[in-house]
Amino acid sequence: MLSREEIDRLNCEFEKKQPPEILQWAFDTFRDDEIAMSCSFQTQSMALLHMATRLRPNLRILFLDTGYHFWETLEFRERIQREWNLNVTDLYRDSRWDVFVRQHLRTLPIEDPDLCCYIHKVQPMQKAVTGLRAWITGIRRDQTPQRSQARILEPQEGDLLKINPLLNWTHAQVMHYLQEHRLPAHPLTTRGYRSIGCAPCTIAVSADAPERAGRWAGRGKTECGLHTEMFKQKEWPIHEE
Ligand code: SF4
Repeated sequence: MLSREEIDRLNCEFEKKQPPEILQWAFDTFRDDEIAMSCSFQTQSMALLHMATRLRPNLRILFLDTGYHFWETLEFRERIQREWNLNVTDLYRDSRWDVFVRQHLRTLPIEDPDLCCYIHKVQPMQKAVTGLRAWITGIRRDQTPQRSQARILEPQEGDLLKINPLLNWTHAQVMHYLQEHRLPAHPLTTRGYRSIGCAPCTIAVSADAPERAGRWAGRGKTECGLHTEMFKQKEWPIHEE
């Protein structure tokens, strides 16, 4: 386990490093069965996915199958897994929520998106990273106010270290990497979807809008909870009507 002092030292060092260098450090530090990367298979995700799997082809990739995705996302995920021969694990909600979700299937993302994200994203990811020592994510500082405060290495509960290799890259740098390597784009990108999450919570926006303007638009929510304090929450109090 890395000490806090060592993590602080590495964080200073990594501020000047490029994402592949940070990834290489991660793969040199953690064994195959100790590390995984979450990926949403939207266009912006393809840069880090490409960098990481070039260095570690059998890296375990975690995909949150919320049940609310656009079919284009699921099709794209299947295609990339097949063509890049990826080691993808799909994550699902805990079955104890099934009855509740069936009863509120259409209304849940609209009426209580925080609970919906907790059930379909936060809890499954909490479970998936339990027992791991390193979790790679693709967040960037230029995406949201919360992400602007993140560090490249962020200790989590227990022995887990969250690694954000792309944190200092801008949207323009990601786009340049995608073009340079001719990486495939999510099919909805050309239809104005600049950031693609679940269908009930994602809309197309103009080309000059902020990257994540189409996520939970007009609902005062900018984060699903994977990268906020919500990730520490072990239970969600349900108040029966
Ligand atoms: S993004 Fe929307 S549909 Fe997806 S889990 Fe969150 S609230 Fe539910």
